[in-house]
Amino acid sequence: MLPSFENPLWKDALTGLPNRQAFHQLLEQLLQQRQSLALLLIDFDNFKWINESRGYGFGDQLLRQIARELERLASLRASVCRLGGDEFALILTDLSQVDGLLNFAAQLKSDLDSSLVVDGVWLDLKCKVGIASYPGDATTPDAMFNNAFAALQVAQNSDGTPVVQYQPQMQAQTLEYRPDYNELKLALKNHEFFLVYQPKFSFPSMQLQGLEALLRWRHPLRGIVSPLVFIPVAEQTGLIAAIGDWVLKAAIAQMESWQREDGVDISVAVNVSPLQLKDDGFVARIKALLNLSGIAGKFLQLELTESSLIEDPRRAHAIIAELRSAGVQIALDDFGTGYSSLAALQTYQLDYLKMDKSFVQKIQTRQGRSVSHAIIQLGHALEMQVIAEGVENAEQEAALRALACDQVQGFLYSHPLPADQCLALMKQPGLQVLQAAEELSVTGN
Ligand code: C2E
Ligand code: CA
Ligand code: CA
Repeated sequence: MLPSFENPLWKDALTGLPNRQAFHQLLEQLLQQRQSLALLLIDFDNFKWINESRGYGFGDQLLRQIARELERLASLRASVCRLGGDEFALILTDLSQVDGLLNFAAQLKSDLDSSLVVDGVWLDLKCKVGIASYPGDATTPDAMFNNAFAALQVAQNSDGTPVVQYQPQMQAQTLEYRPDYNELKLALKNHEFFLVYQPKFSFPSMQLQGLEALLRWRHPLRGIVSPLVFIPVAEQTGLIAAIGDWVLKAAIAQMESWQREDGVDISVAVNVSPLQLKDDGFVARIKALLNLSGIAGKFLQLELTESSLIEDPRRAHAIIAELRSAGVQIALDDFGTGYSSLAALQTYQLDYLKMDKSFVQKIQTRQGRSVSHAIIQLGHALEMQVIAEGVENAEQEAALRALACDQVQGFLYSHPLPADQCLALMKQPGLQVLQAAEELSVTGN
């Protein structure tokens, strides 16, 4: 059944069309029905100029006109939604009725462009269209949106092709996007961040050991944005303090809810930026959050990078000692990619060493295998458990198992998952969740 748009929260007040929330619901529900469909994102050139030159009242009237025209042109074959501003989406469900998706979109574009008359004035306004289809271009709601958006961006940047269907190489171009301070600040204020969790398993039994919390941004126009795109900006602008604090709070609240409501104790690892450690109140904040939630420190793992340890070693020692005395576990993340001083490393007491995925990727070569072997041995010599990240295939797993690696994480086992799917995983019969990391012993080699 399709969602009911009677809910006033799901209606765009200006045009009466389903709004962004309703659109996401609708797309998700339609994809669950597994019938072929297409998503068209429509955006206008120079709309801002219309608002500025003719006033917002005129702009509003024009948006209502666009909404009516889109509904008329799409007729019964599609649902039309307004995503915000001058951006509209059309979900086309009956593809058998259209004679080629690109033809349909090009006709729609040309009809729409020529139909925009407000107060008897024809407006020379042109739209651009980005298209993604199911199942050809994407299979999940987020991927459908991201891919149609990538296609729309290509259309917007091109002079001659206003209607573009998604192609795989387009995703690379969207990585060039760089948000600014205000956008990130607004994202925090508008609750656009959320966490996904990637499980880690232990050799030899492949028991679930814990989860790593990974940050995502649901951008109102771009869909899901990777932390690789916005964490560097957050670090450069200082916003990482507030964002990092939000991550800690959200991860601990999630642990609390799993514990209280579902009776599951699970260890969760949180990534910590070197800048967060510079904040004098960092340790006190962690302790306060743990106290408030009632979560024991041993269930929280913090993933620090090598640069956190190197820059101000005295301070890092003090912080780590204090965190560990509260039971918090410390992992050294991305090991092997930064500037590790082995002399410095052996002065720290750390619980886990996370071998960077670049080593796992090379493990099938003779040299790569030797390097991984050396890293695992080094970790064990320093009394750390070694976790290999980015395990993608059975050959890599076999090599890591033979090298006595302790834990594995990667797409071979699971992509990062929303919290509710993690719960299903934790409750899976036959899968024993180890209650606390301290129950483990370091595997010898
Ligand atoms: P990371 O800490 O090394 O996290 C692992 C990254 O590898 C994640 O990317 C994960 O989705 C990805 N990954 C997992 N398994 C595989 C696999 O089998 N193959 C490949 N190719 N990749 C895999 P993600 O989520 O995009 O995060 C990227 C980086 O962003 C993280 O790298 C971390 O440095 C940073 N990050 C993520 N969340 C946070 C956060 O809450 N705070 C801070 N400060 N940084 C974060
Ligand atoms: Ca990490
Ligand atoms: Ca890592």
